[in-house]
Amino acid sequence: MDSNPARLLLRVSLLFRFEKFFFFCSPSPSLAAKTPEPPLAARLFHAAAPRRPTSSSSAPPISDAADPGGRSSFAPFIAMTRHAGARRRGGAGVVVVVSLLLLLLLSAAAIAAEGVEAAVFDDAHLLPRPLVIELPTTTTSSSAAAAEEGEGDAVPAEVRCASWRLAGEANNLAPWKSLPEECAAYVREYLTGVAYRSDLEVVAREASAYARTTRVGDDGRDAWVFDVDETLLSNLPYYADHGYGLELFDHREFDKWVERGEAPAIPSSLKLYNEVRDLGFKTFLLTGRSEGHHGVTVDNLKKQGFHDWDKLILRAPADRKKTATIYKSEKRKEMEEEGYRILGNSGDQWSDLLGFSTSARSFKLPNPMYYIP
Ligand SMILES: [Mg+2]
Repeated sequence: MDSNPARLLLRVSLLFRFEKFFFFCSPSPSLAAKTPEPPLAARLFHAAAPRRPTSSSSAPPISDAADPGGRSSFAPFIAMTRHAGARRRGGAGVVVVVSLLLLLLLSAAAIAAEGVEAAVFDDAHLLPRPLVIELPTTTTSSSAAAAEEGEGDAVPAEVRCASWRLAGEANNLAPWKSLPEECAAYVREYLTGVAYRSDLEVVAREASAYARTTRVGDDGRDAWVFDVDETLLSNLPYYADHGYGLELFDHREFDKWVERGEAPAIPSSLKLYNEVRDLGFKTFLLTGRSEGHHGVTVDNLKKQGFHDWDKLILRAPADRKKTATIYKSEKRKEMEEEGYRILGNSGDQWSDLLGFSTSARSFKLPNPMYYIP
């Protein structure tokens, strides 16, 4: 006996549904031949008695096939239905319609029972769910257009810029190449004051809480993916010299900075990284830096306190023309194909987190300086 009410309802509903379906799909020889029926009371208690063959119908007599012994659990219902059909041919149509409605109700109940069952047994997987938010496809920023048209002048620039930053963090902005000119001072204040550090700490704390409440398997297959730039290492010293995102990104200048290997650690991320490793997660560092920067990246990470990662993945020449979303998704897919379960992912760009083979839970670090599709 099944003790689960959802599973029990599902099974009873399916049993009842199939028996009804069999019955109503079978032609009724009594209706076709209009042969007189024995009294109702007699048929209620002898529903399985052999029926007289009729010459006008080639359909086999109903023999309660579901019960060769002749004592179907639905015999009384079947008998009453036949009685109604014998009295009035049109009544059979009503019975069929009512029965179809009953069938629909039972089907709905069965589906609902399946849903309840799934909810009961998959409860452990309801949360956390991966965020799946499509990247914007338009190229015109409505915020920028509004600023050009003078809209929102009644709102202080600082508030407008706070709204712009929030929209960026929520992935609501169209792709952008540099921050709005009027927001240069706002972004600088944000990054160099306590707000940026506080935002980073909140994300790290939430990630840490999630990591600590997640059961890590003994098979060494639970993994956490970290981006590098603006996630583990900070390039603020470089961006301080380039308007904190006001200037268009210059690959050559940035590469020169990377090759110095002097990017400082983000303290809250270093703490999270060590916590995650201590909990037993495999740690994969997945960066958009090119493979040519492998050595300097390793040195920079180690100098800043990051050790013992399981894999550092850099962008190969074949990945150069791919968007970060595609490149990182493909690398995560490879991890999955190797048998890893990606339970956590930390990155400062949505392209670190979205796409396919997404992690069970993603953590978006703030970054108002640049946008990478
Ligand atoms: Mg990054």
